[in-house]
Amino acid sequence: MSDSQSSKDFVPGCMRCAKCNFRLQRVNLYMGSGTTGPGDSKTEPCPNGCGPLWPITWEQEARECWAAADSLFENLHAERDQLKVENGALLKDAERYRWLRIADWWRSPVCVIRNPKEQAKLGTDCPSGDRLDAALDAAMGKGEQA
Ligand SMILES: [Zn+2]
Repeated sequence: MSDSQSSKDFVPGCMRCAKCNFRLQRVNLYMGSGTTGPGDSKTEPCPNGCGPLWPITWEQEARECWAAADSLFENLHAERDQLKVENGALLKDAERYRWLRIADWWRSPVCVIRNPKEQAKLGTDCPSGDRLDAALDAAMGKGEQA
């Protein structure tokens, strides 16, 4: 804290530990009016035993808020990109299902059969999992449809 800094340079009631980054926000409750206001900015020991808590200047606060906003913005972009990837996979599955639900046995290269143990003959190809995805993708790619 330099001599050129006055109390108006500090965020009222905000203190920080220089070692562990612990942040204290002092708030006063005014019982008469039922309102709150910022507490003072007097130093006190860090509860983690590191040393004193120091008042935070408005510039420090602004820089920290800007960094936090940047971080949140980047996190949101990363999450949005991840959701786009997941959504793409879900859309592909939904597209396959919509294609399969109208596929019929006489026109489609792939369709659904109820009671396959009784209906499927020996040697019948009954793809599932990735093989079913590939069979559907191939049929959809050829424009074959029920
Ligand atoms: Zn500390």
